Amino acid sequence: MASEGKKRKLEEAVELTPRTYSFQRILGQGSYGTVYLASIIETDEVCAIKSIKPVRKMDNGEPGYTRDGPDREVQILKDLRGHPNIVDLMGAFISKSADGQKLNLVFEFLSDTLHRVIKHHNQLGKGIDPYYVKFYFYQLVRGTAYMHGRGYIHCDMKPQNLLLEGKSHGLRICDFGTARRMALREKRALYVCSRYFRAPEIILGSTTYNTAIDLWSVGLIFAELIIRQPLFTGRDGIDQLVEIIKVLGTPTSQDLKAMNPNYPSSFQFKPEVAGLPWKKVLKEWATPDAVELAAALVRFNPNSRMPPLQVMLHPYFDELRAANKPAHRILFNFLPEELAWCTEREREKLVPHWMSANGTA
Ligand code: ADP
Repeated sequence: MASEGKKRKLEEAVELTPRTYSFQRILGQGSYGTVYLASIIETDEVCAIKSIKPVRKMDNGEPGYTRDGPDREVQILKDLRGHPNIVDLMGAFISKSADGQKLNLVFEFLSDTLHRVIKHHNQLGKGIDPYYVKFYFYQLVRGTAYMHGRGYIHCDMKPQNLLLEGKSHGLRICDFGTARRMALREKRALYVCSRYFRAPEIILGSTTYNTAIDLWSVGLIFAELIIRQPLFTGRDGIDQLVEIIKVLGTPTSQDLKAMNPNYPSSFQFKPEVAGLPWKKVLKEWATPDAVELAAALVRFNPNSRMPPLQVMLHPYFDELRAANKPAHRILFNFLPEELAWCTEREREKLVPHWMSANGTA
């Protein structure tokens, strides 16, 4: 039977041990399904189950579970498993309900999202402690570096997709539903990423964009952590570009060519508007280091956005490397692969002496 075949494929993909789940309440309504809080009867652990409804019939008449393939999200999550800043997939199963079959992804449960933390601070009318801005941003960049190093573009980075662990303040990137593997020459989907975090090359219709679209979103999440509201809030795709231009100024013809090679070199946007100084954009709350990092990520030219490893090495994070605190260990427990991507000099800077002295890095 077709559904049996699909089930077997999934079980092979996630090395499943059969478990019984008790659903408790809805945690969130995503764009493609519902996320529930549940407990695992056999182990008494809590978990989050993302239940994805069939989106469309596939060519052979079977229901499709995710946007482009039945278990691409599972495959990507499985491939990224074991990194401290990527949500941990614990299993997957197929269930039947009144509106058809559903694919269920079982995750570790995390109590918060960055979006909620920002909202909470807004309600209190106070800024997020600059130390935690740094703590969260470091983990966001580290998770991004890992994902990109393994050849994936997330395509939907935003505060709602960043889960937080209440006690340790550990951050995990979630929702790989629109993530894709970097494939040369493959045309990419035209509309990805939530509008406020959508890179300008996507708005301009590029179908050859790369991991730099995530760096744009990461830069905007950083700005939002500082100013407590999204920086660019366009009403539609074009208005989004207008909002960006109000801050960055008009893109030059080189910027336009870098964002979409189909633009003729002579093309120029009119009228020409000058950009605002980042210090002003981030108001009085940002230190010069933070201003420098935001400006290095939120740039029109995708090739000139600072690569995540360079962001991690930036002096802005020296404060975290300097302090030998138990809470900081989760920042520097590098996987061998993460260190293999660095030069010797970068490794020396990335791993604090107190961490390597303990022989754990
Ligand atoms: P979709 O792909 O349908 O948008 P997401 O994976 O983004 O679904 O999940 C939707 C929401 O559910 C998230 O924004 C978050 O609030 C909540 N959520 C997702 N995964 C977890 C988890 N592991 N623990 C706690 N809440 C989660």
